[in-house]
Amino acid sequence: MHAKGHFGLTLFILSLIGLPIGFGPENLMIFIIFLSAILSSLPDIDIKIGISHRTVTHSLLFAIIIGILFGILLGYSSGLLYGFLGFIAGFLAIVIHMLGDLMTFQKFNPLWPFKQNYLSYGLFEAKSKAANNIFFVLGWIMFFVYIFIS
Ligand SMILES: [Zn+2]
Repeated sequence: MHAKGHFGLTLFILSLIGLPIGFGPENLMIFIIFLSAILSSLPDIDIKIGISHRTVTHSLLFAIIIGILFGILLGYSSGLLYGFLGFIAGFLAIVIHMLGDLMTFQKFNPLWPFKQNYLSYGLFEAKSKAANNIFFVLGWIMFFVYIFIS
């Protein structure tokens, strides 16, 4: 899946989760949704920095590391609550990225390095324009549904 699709899928899933929660105090849920959506393509940095695609950066361990990193970053700059939100947003961004990639063809190992279990469900090609556009549009639709209902 490409950046547009990842952005949309993140927006979709987190807006859906946000429906029963509402905006939260100080619109914290909106903060999580947008921080996660912005970070949603971070795992594909592997292509740019020249490590094998869909390896280290497409793992639960990477999700935890990114969560902790943003937790510390926001914790230091904005206090404990934002530190916690930073962790949640960073962690979810990577986990949802993996969910998106699982729908495509190139297998990867989400539980690296703890387990060897290469997965992918081959529902569409990662580069599929139609699939990426559909997720992008569905993400925004779900986000606006969430905004209007909350
Ligand atoms: Zn990816």
